[in-house]
Amino acid sequence: MLIDTHAHLNDPRYRDNFKDIIQDLPRQNVGRIICASYDKRSSVKAQKIASEFDIVYFSVGAHPHYAQDFVKDDLNFYQSFTDQKKLVAIGEIGLDYHYNFSPKDAQKSAFLYQLEMAYNMGLPVIIHSREAYDDTLKILDDNQEFTRNGILVHCYTGNLYFAQEILKRGFYLSFGGAITYKNNHTAYEVITNIPLDKVVLETDCPYLTPVPHRGKINEPKYIKFVAEKIAEWKNIATEQVEQITTQNAYNFFKKMK
Ligand SMILES: [Zn+2]
Repeated sequence: MLIDTHAHLNDPRYRDNFKDIIQDLPRQNVGRIICASYDKRSSVKAQKIASEFDIVYFSVGAHPHYAQDFVKDDLNFYQSFTDQKKLVAIGEIGLDYHYNFSPKDAQKSAFLYQLEMAYNMGLPVIIHSREAYDDTLKILDDNQEFTRNGILVHCYTGNLYFAQEILKRGFYLSFGGAITYKNNHTAYEVITNIPLDKVVLETDCPYLTPVPHRGKINEPKYIKFVAEKIAEWKNIATEQVEQITTQNAYNFFKKMK
């Protein structure tokens, strides 16, 4: 059974069909999903979906895109989920210098506040980092105590150097549909040169639909194409990728059963 560690089934695009999508997943060999949030509203929705379906767990947090709207008082809102049994992480939080929808200072400040909050809540962190690996690692290095519950850099699209820097610190990497895109030499270099013991899988749906379904709205069932690509590059069986990444997901998301 595969685990999709990052699925935005709380996205309004799934308003009419998220129940059907989830109910079909056991048949698709997807045994667990983490519904990842990006703001307050999506956090509420993620909690609701997780409460309705055994196989769905969730995270809460404010994405860097919305950092300029983040105020310190929001921490109280996110902390109000503390007692939820299916809350397995804080995220996605971090830095996005590709779009820069929020000023960098606002991004750094929202990131740091939520990093500290995750530590205080005893939860690991799902990090979104786009064209910002330097600053992301600097903030994590300067605040090592807040990283102790675990750090996962989601949808990794960086180079081998940063992958090794992340793994060296004991952090996790997750890979999604982007690795299936044609001529992705960077992903090939990364995956063929790192061990799989800190690697998990994700779809990041509705985004980044893997080949051969690119162009359609992504769904957790397409995660098998990510597993198959890693197996092909590593020259091992897909079942082995499945077994390792599923075990890694349980190791990282300790509250997931
Ligand atoms: Zn995401």
